[in-house]
Amino acid sequence: MIKTLVTGGAGFLGSHLCERLLRDGHDVLCVDNFFTGSKQNIAHLLGNPYFELMRHDVTFPLYVEVDRIFNLACPASPIHYQFDPVQTTKTSVHGAINMLGLAKRLKARILQASTSEVYGDPEVHPQTEDYWGRVNPVGIRSCYDEGKRCAETLFFDYFRQHGLDIKVVRIFNTYGPRMHPNDGRVVSNFIVQALRGQDITIYGDGSQTRSFCYVDDLVEGFVRMMETQPGFTGPINMGNPGEFTMLELAEKVVALVGGQSKLVFKPLPPDDPRQRQPDISLARDKLGWQPKVGLEDGLRETIAYFRRTLEL
Ligand code: NAD
Ligand code: UDP
Ligand code: UDP
Repeated sequence: MIKTLVTGGAGFLGSHLCERLLRDGHDVLCVDNFFTGSKQNIAHLLGNPYFELMRHDVTFPLYVEVDRIFNLACPASPIHYQFDPVQTTKTSVHGAINMLGLAKRLKARILQASTSEVYGDPEVHPQTEDYWGRVNPVGIRSCYDEGKRCAETLFFDYFRQHGLDIKVVRIFNTYGPRMHPNDGRVVSNFIVQALRGQDITIYGDGSQTRSFCYVDDLVEGFVRMMETQPGFTGPINMGNPGEFTMLELAEKVVALVGGQSKLVFKPLPPDDPRQRQPDISLARDKLGWQPKVGLEDGLRETIAYFRRTLEL
């Protein structure tokens, strides 16, 4: 039985990944400090004898015995990663060093959940993996963007210097059930606002774009990437190439929820990327992977989840 560690396993993506790994027959160790994750996300897994939960902060060393490591620990939404920016950088950088040290001792395979934010506000569109990005090193998003960039550097130096079996996935905006209702990300904000009959808050003029991937598609990509040959390191983009403006997203959400919400315009936060769309040719070629769930179907599932959990 493969023993697999998922850091950040009680979070949005992590909880779906734990579920999938258990279904695939792994023995899963979920490590989380519950900064943004919750026990609720994994409560249904606690009775499974092959699931173990450990409260731990990855900025501290971790001594366990596993074969595979998925390193997801890090707050992902701007309001959470900007709440304690120093801790955000520590989580990415010290967390990466500790998990790489663990992987080195165990000769375990390790996958890093990196992000499209390494491309910053990109001047190459759509973004390919060989684009180096345009990130402000001193702005309010830098703790996240530069922390994740440094984590990638560490992964590749452990690969070159110590021969570690690494995988780096650059995740583009992903959504679905178990997103935190108050985490400020656009999909959860719009859905919760629409369900409550509140105004939909568009930042800026709403012409900026994002590409939204449904969580099940992303988890499938993660699992495929983890099982590739040693030496196939990435970085590899994972996301849904369907690109939408925030105005289009708002209109879709309002139409699907069917409420009376109006669109209101708020100031655009500093350094907010203008556009974002993954080029997933590499994942298509090497993993035979591409997303299957379109935006409307994924939104329907997510709306149903928020309706249930918020009792709306
Ligand atoms: P999330 O906030 O729901 O999950 C992050 C998890 O990490 C939470 O359970 C949190 O409690 C835990 N955590 C944070 N700091 C920790 C620490 N120091 N020690 C241990 N646990 C810690 O966010 P998510 O959307 O599930 O994101 C998971 C990963 O994927 C993150 O690394 C994020 O950067 C990356 N990612 C996500 C997206 C997306 O759109 N969801 C996009 C790009 C990258
Ligand atoms: N580490 C860990 N678990 C282990 C092995 C190492 O958390 O099983 C941590 C350890 O605290 C160290 C970091 O990983 O600070 C990096 O380890 P590495 O062996 O690369 O560096 P070194 O110990 O030589 O500084
Ligand atoms: N956004 C918005 N209204 C909201 C929340 C976000 O218009 O209530 C915008 C935000 O300015 C950004 C886009 O939606 O342009 C995506 O934001 P999110 O925080 O979800 O992801 P990221 O900016 O990290 O890609």
